[in-house]
Amino acid sequence: MRKILCVLCLLLVCCGCSNKEKKDSEAYVIDAFPSVSEQGVYHIVKGKIGNQLYFYDGETNQDVPLCAKPNCDHNNNQCEAYLITQYKDTVMNYPPMPYEGKLYGVYMNMQTGNNYLCSMEEDGSDRKEILKLTDGAIASLMIYKNKAYICLETFEHDENGRIGRLAENYLTYIGDLTNGKLTQLDLDEDSIVNFEGVWDKQVMYMTIKEENDNVKGVLMSLSEDGKENKVFLDNMSTLNAFLYKGSIYSNDNQQIKKLDLKTKEEADVCQAHTDGCTLDSGVNDPFGLMRITCVKDNKFVKEIYVDLEKKQQVSIEGNIYTKYKDGYLVMDEQGLLKFIKE
Ligand SMILES: [Zn+2]
Repeated sequence: MRKILCVLCLLLVCCGCSNKEKKDSEAYVIDAFPSVSEQGVYHIVKGKIGNQLYFYDGETNQDVPLCAKPNCDHNNNQCEAYLITQYKDTVMNYPPMPYEGKLYGVYMNMQTGNNYLCSMEEDGSDRKEILKLTDGAIASLMIYKNKAYICLETFEHDENGRIGRLAENYLTYIGDLTNGKLTQLDLDEDSIVNFEGVWDKQVMYMTIKEENDNVKGVLMSLSEDGKENKVFLDNMSTLNAFLYKGSIYSNDNQQIKKLDLKTKEEADVCQAHTDGCTLDSGVNDPFGLMRITCVKDNKFVKEIYVDLEKKQQVSIEGNIYTKYKDGYLVMDEQGLLKFIKE
């Protein structure tokens, strides 16, 4: 799982792009980023009763459980904010992805290997099962134009057929959101597929290749129907690179770099200051916030953030959930979001 943080997102590729047609045609969402809709921000709070879906309202700046039940204390297993995170034998661990006026939630069970993708209205009502995948765990998922692009890591089985560990075997599918049909793609099953977004009408994903004990990142492009699969950039230094506004950003030993996909030119963005910690991983969000995990002696120290638009490290201390409007939403110890302007 590349979901290092409990984050999902809405990713509009052409942020700030006035060409509506272009924006509509390349809008997509990825399951690993913060979940930001036009009205506010969805996130999961892990409480005593289990996961609950919260909604930070961008108008009122209130962060409350997504529950319309009268007189609910939101601390019981009939609370709607809890019930929406439960489906059959599976649980929603990351907030649902807002896409074209609906929410899409991923539900998983690591014991049974069941995975569901469900759609619902933005208030959480009218949940419908769209896709079911069995015998694995979803490693990466992206929604683009009525299709879900999914990488499923399968489980090993013991001699009795019981599910064991994850098998490092990856199956990639396109799921049709209109009829639930799954089509498996003919991709290398030994390498993970991390969906990065859409660029120039191509579905872009990162994978790894091993050659003579060397592990390298490879950026691939896939046609929308999954039939054409090509190497786009070979020999990338790290899997922690990600796509943002037509460039691949990466973190190369505290130097943040960008590589323009059109010109293939590389440029320095800025330095990240990590107080002597080594950099472990970078995951981004839809608005160009690069997230870097600092690790020392194999222990987590802190996260730092680089604002790729401002080309600088964010000075706010704390656990930033996402960029929002002209500031950031910071998560407190209870898991609630507070707006902070830098
Ligand atoms: Zn409630």
